[in-house]
Formats: sequence, structure tokens, C-alpha cells
Amino acid sequence: MIIFVVNCGSSSIKYQLLNMNGEQVLAKGLIERIGMEGSVLKHTPTGKYTVDISAEIPDHSVGIQMALDALTNEEYGVIDSMDEIDAVGHRVVHGGERFTDSVLISDDVLNGIEACAEIAPLHNPPNLYGIKACMRLMYNTPQVAVFDTAFHQTMPKVAYLYGLPYEMYVKYGLRRYGFHGTSHKYVAQQAAEMMGEHMSDLRFITCHLGNGASIAAIKYGKSIDTSMGYTPLEGLVMGTRSGEIDPAIIPFLMEKENMNAQQIDDYLNRRRGILGISGLSSDFRDLESAANRGDERSQLAIDIFAYKVKKYIGGYVAAMGGVDAIIFTAGLGENSPFMRDKICNGLEYLGTRIDPELNKLRGKQMEISIKRARVKIFVIPTNEELVIARDTLNICRRIIKL
Ligand code: ADP
Repeated sequence: MIIFVVNCGSSSIKYQLLNMNGEQVLAKGLIERIGMEGSVLKHTPTGKYTVDISAEIPDHSVGIQMALDALTNEEYGVIDSMDEIDAVGHRVVHGGERFTDSVLISDDVLNGIEACAEIAPLHNPPNLYGIKACMRLMYNTPQVAVFDTAFHQTMPKVAYLYGLPYEMYVKYGLRRYGFHGTSHKYVAQQAAEMMGEHMSDLRFITCHLGNGASIAAIKYGKSIDTSMGYTPLEGLVMGTRSGEIDPAIIPFLMEKENMNAQQIDDYLNRRRGILGISGLSSDFRDLESAANRGDERSQLAIDIFAYKVKKYIGGYVAAMGGVDAIIFTAGLGENSPFMRDKICNGLEYLGTRIDPELNKLRGKQMEISIKRARVKIFVIPTNEELVIARDTLNICRRIIKL
């Protein structure tokens, strides 16, 4: 069974082709600068060199066709023809309240994803371009949508309702949805496997710390709370996103800095966060080296980030009445011993401590807490593509008996 996994952003497409016999990645690729000058496809067959293909890529449809051409290319392709692809799995950012799990895409599902675009105007439209392009180019191949929000649909009302009139929730769907669901779910499953137990017996706090960052409380297999909200802007201070702020700051800034609604949204999403505090960079690698050289604002940005993560961990321990493991994942969580140490320093009251030697390792699945710690700490590289491929396989097997 061969599955094509597609993740369309506004100007990019990430893809992987997986053989689900042994869950092997056959090839992966990245298309950037769609609709701009200098667009390029970087295609990597597993175990071989990356091929850079520069071409005019005016839209996602052309991009998907190029990816399929690369996958079937005589020289660097990995399959002989598109017909070898059994199913396509699409990452879709927002599934609203309707999509509580991955689904086989039909016209009705397409309409549902389109309806969610109102709450996710930046994310869902490009996801839809990708789905429609694949449906056109591979019209006999089943397509499955896997939603970033679905895993968090188990949150109870106490966790997802804002202090706004209830009618605003009913009328506009104004509530917390949460994101990075496939990542939180994957690392929790992996941790349960490493502990030799079932997720349904364990309480996890999963820290997805990348450029976008969120934390989830996963109690007995279900997400019961997460730090992102109606949009990915809520929660932790992030690379370029402010995270939670007093809402009264928004009209204040709009007036003082002469910004309209669109401009303030852009300001809080793209130019604040760690970048805004440090005035230097949204990348923690830059901040760590600047802080080592004595740059105070870079140090402050690091301290604020770690403090916020620690506060969420404390909050989620309280929400779940305890915790069995804390898991770090995504760019920063997987690769920064310094940040992991800073976050966990002071959590000894929980019955855990980082082992400094184990914590030096980067980017591989491992336990980094001291021996016999009551609460374990894991680093688990995320693999959202694999979750999408697994869900696609399961749905195709179950519904269309592929
Ligand atoms: P996203 O998918 O949200 O764009 P990633 O999960 O790829 O983000 O994470 C990217 C971020 O991870 C970078 O901006 C950087 O801050 C951080 N990062 C990656 N590698 C390292 C490292 N070796 N040390 C510290 N931070 C790192």
C-alpha cells in the first residue's frame, strides 16, 4: 500500500511518499515560493541526493503535478507510475467542531472544510487547493483529510469555552480548538509504547516546541486541554506570535500605532513573540548564541519562553490531578538540551529530574529523566506525516476495503 502525504501551506507544499509495508518513506519533497519568483522543488528519494528543480510554479495544482512527475521520474523517481499510489492523505489545519477524526473526502466533506475556512482563512484555503488538485490529477484515488484540530475535540467545555457570551459560541463558533493535534497524538502514543503501557492508563503533558508552539494535557488517551485556542495565536509566546496577552492591549495598540484589524492581526502573528522581545531573531539557535555573548534581551526572550512553558506544565498537572510523563518534541523540543533543562529545572517537586548526560543527546527518541524518576521525561521526534499516512491507510481499509 503506497500513500502520498500532502501538506499545503499558502506558498509551499511538503510531501512524502510512504510504503506502508514497514512504514518506509520512499521519497520526500518541499516546494517553496509558489506563485512567486524563484519557485523551486527539492525532491529527495530516500538514501539519495536531493534534486533541486527550478521552474515557474504559479499555483498548487502545478506544484502537485511537479511532485508527481518527480516521484515517477526515470532517474530520481521511486515509482513507475501514479497508478501505484493507493491513497492520498492531506493535512488540513482546521476541522472545526464537525471533524472529530480523519475522514474520507467527499463533496460533502469538501463543503465542510470550506465552511471551516472562515475560522482559518490563512490555513484552510491552501489545504483545499491541494485536495482539489489531487482530486483532479488522481480522480480514482481515495483522498483522506487529517485535521490538526481533531485530536483536541475531546476537550470538555470547561477547557474550551471563553469568558464570552455563550451566544457568541453558538453563533460564530468562538471557542478554543487547539492545533498540532497529530503531533501531540503521535508523541503520546510513542511515549506509551516506550513505557510498555496503554495511553488509556497514562497522563501526559506533551510540549510541541517549534516555531509555532503548543502544550497539551492528555489524560487517559484524550486531549483535555491545550494552549492554542480559536487560532494558533493563543498560549505560549512563540517565534513570531505574541501568545496570550491582555485583550485590552489590542484596541490600545490599534489606536496608538494607527493599525486596522488586519494590521494588528498580522502584527501579533508575524512580528512579535521571541522576535519582538529579543529584537534579534525568531530562531532560538540565534538567541542561544547571542545570550552566550551577553545579549540581555535574547536572554530575556529565552527566560520568558521557558517560564511560560513551566507555568503550563504546572497548570496541566493540576488539571489532570498528576502526570506520568512530560514529552518534548518539534524543532526546539527535540534539539535544545539547554531549553529542556531550563524548563524542567524546578519541577523536582513532581518527582522528576533531567539526567544531564542523557539530555545532551539530540533529535532521537529517548528518555532523559534520571533512573527511577516517578515522572518520566521523554524526547520524541514528531512525525506528523506518519500519523497522516496511518490514518489514511486505516480509513481506506475500513471504509473502502482497499
Ligand atoms: P515549525 O515546524 O513550527 O516551523 P520546527 O518544529 O521546525 O518549526 O522548529 C523550528 C525551530 O526550532 C527553530 O526556529 C528554532 O527556534 C528551533 N531549533 C531547531 N533546531 C534547534 C537547535 N539545535 N537548538 C535550538 N533551537 C533549535
